[in-house]
Amino acid sequence: MTDATTNLLDFDLEALSAYCERLGEKRFRAVQLFRWIHQRGARDFDQMSDLAKSLRAKLAGCATIRPLPVISEHVSADGTVKWLFDVGAGNAVESVFIPEDDRGTLCVSSQAGCAVGCRFCSTGHQGFSRNLSTGEILAQLWHAEHSLRARLKTPAGERVITNVVMMGMGEPLQNYGALVPALRVMLDDHGYGLSRRRVTVSTSGVVPFMERLREDLPVALAVSLHAPDDALRDPLVPLNRKYPLAELLAACKGYLERAPRDFITFEYCMLDGVNDGDEQARALLALVGPKGPAGRVPCKFNLIPFNPFPASGLKRSSSERVQAFAKILIEGGIVTTVRKTRGDDIDAACGQLAGEVQDRTRAAERMTRAPVQVIRPVRPA
Ligand code: SAH
Ligand code: SF4
Repeated sequence: MTDATTNLLDFDLEALSAYCERLGEKRFRAVQLFRWIHQRGARDFDQMSDLAKSLRAKLAGCATIRPLPVISEHVSADGTVKWLFDVGAGNAVESVFIPEDDRGTLCVSSQAGCAVGCRFCSTGHQGFSRNLSTGEILAQLWHAEHSLRARLKTPAGERVITNVVMMGMGEPLQNYGALVPALRVMLDDHGYGLSRRRVTVSTSGVVPFMERLREDLPVALAVSLHAPDDALRDPLVPLNRKYPLAELLAACKGYLERAPRDFITFEYCMLDGVNDGDEQARALLALVGPKGPAGRVPCKFNLIPFNPFPASGLKRSSSERVQAFAKILIEGGIVTTVRKTRGDDIDAACGQLAGEVQDRTRAAERMTRAPVQVIRPVRPA
């Protein structure tokens, strides 16, 4: 059954103001309404005591604040929380909350499935079903923030979620039209009030939309690199065939002119015997150094231990290998971190946000027919 009412979670403040105007209301009413929704987590117009009764009645007739149905919620021993949300037609997406001493990060999904089809990613293996709407992207944050506040008994006016990373299921820059209004609500002082440094879009490298994001709303950017050259990146991140490394690095450099931080974060998933050799680490230094295709690219590296899943046919690099790889980057002058795996007991780690997706692209079938090979010779034992 579809709900014919307008979902107010689909609107940034500008769109909500226009909506209020269409209802014959003054635009500033939208600010009150917006604050009720995003800052106080209200769902019911009757709660909104400072709005005129006539407006509340009008809204109740044509609009809703529509959360996503929660299929499951898992809380890990380390405080990580993972939600599985129903997005209809047999599709589900996941969000993960990661508490740390000085912050609370929510990892948000942007699509049901993903069309990029990276070899090491279980979302990619599921194929693509559809884009999430702005309201569905924001419903993840809305639910996480307000359910956690209630559970943790957070004092009024305090936020639980201080950072958002668009690192759940999907390629956010292939859902640009829905992403940007959602980001605006995250940044809006009347919404979640997060600074541009605390909202990160992670991309596999959709170059034209990196350029648009730079103009429209330059939040922090993470780029999933995973390989130092096109020959290795092509099979791992198939989008590389369209936007090869030289173009990607030039776009990173261009992005930095407007970015809220003065570096790009490169994510690098460590795959045993595939992209984790000393020679690849040295090649990365050359790639982002002054003699690389785009000249020096100020960056940090975040090495992600691969989270294995059977269909990938790939293995996680040993921690000694990850350390040796990191050492080469660090000695080459690049700040490098190794991502901690959190929420292991509830499968909340990167690339395991599998959800359940109706595969409309038959990605799984294609990938099974062409099993993944170790692309580079494995290091001598
Ligand atoms: N589509 C975007 C954002 C979602 S993926 C992107 O690719 O950047 C978020 C991060 O998780 C990416 O860096 C991705 O490469 C990484 N990732 C995907 N599958 C993984 C796996 N099985 N193990 C470790 N990291 C993985
Ligand atoms: Fe899509 Fe990102 Fe997974 Fe690649 S890593 S398939 S871009 S979600």
